Amino acid sequence: MGTYEKPKPCPNCGQSDADKINFTWWGGAIGPRIFNHVKCNYCSTKYNAKSGDSNTTNIIIYTVVLVIIAFALVFMFQGG
Ligand SMILES: [Zn+2]
Repeated sequence: MGTYEKPKPCPNCGQSDADKINFTWWGGAIGPRIFNHVKCNYCSTKYNAKSGDSNTTNIIIYTVVLVIIAFALVFMFQGG
């Protein structure tokens, strides 16, 4: 899916040296890819490499959507 671009500067310390995160507790292996989640090598801040902003809002929305889907699936299987 495209080439890896240099990440935007860290919102905390301003460095552009960050590594991609491949797995997170909130998003498994898919979540961090969707949100270009990276970790700053200088201050360990995690942020969005494309926007240069924190991913906190995205993570909350992502988690809430997953919970809703999980509840919907449970409801469907109980109904059947
Ligand atoms: Zn930083």
